[in-house]
Amino acid sequence: MCNTVPFDILLKLCYTMLMENGSWNIKCILFDRDGTLGELADKRYPQTFTPFCDVANIFARLKQKGYLVGLITNQSSIARGTGRGYDFASEFQSYGADIWEICPHDDKDGCTCRKPKSGLLSAAAEKLRILPTECMVVGDRLSDVQCANNLGAKAALVLTGFGKSEKKNVLAAYPDTLVLERFDQLLQLLP
Ligand SMILES: [Zn+2]
Repeated sequence: MCNTVPFDILLKLCYTMLMENGSWNIKCILFDRDGTLGELADKRYPQTFTPFCDVANIFARLKQKGYLVGLITNQSSIARGTGRGYDFASEFQSYGADIWEICPHDDKDGCTCRKPKSGLLSAAAEKLRILPTECMVVGDRLSDVQCANNLGAKAALVLTGFGKSEKKNVLAAYPDTLVLERFDQLLQLLP
């Protein structure tokens, strides 16, 4: 672990520089839910979700740094019936999220919101009156990184959920993706 500290400091310096010279202008961080902020005991049921750590605390600290925070999440459980009636809004409000967008569809619905499509990202940005390019999408799957890159948003892959198995494909397709051990590592990296 001890050799990760200087690396983190170096990374933080890089991001600070990118932000300060205007190359990176991140106003909002949009997190995926399942596999990113926590994990599901049973993939069919959204109520079996357990966060990896205190999401509200991490969101509060990101907001203190001046970022808007939100969620963009595919919930095909709604289309399939097992997620119907689950109160996502209450959950996301309890985290202190500024915005959230949910895709309730399944693959066969052919919607424009299900990631890797970018409908959730563009809807969130529009409601916040910012540009998709001013957002960072944080997720555990290639589809999250694709969703971000489709609209020129920044992307971070977490190594939780499917992240470890997705990493190779993500970096092959999008070599500039930021890789995080877990979502809360962003706190150390972002100025
Ligand atoms: Zn959809």
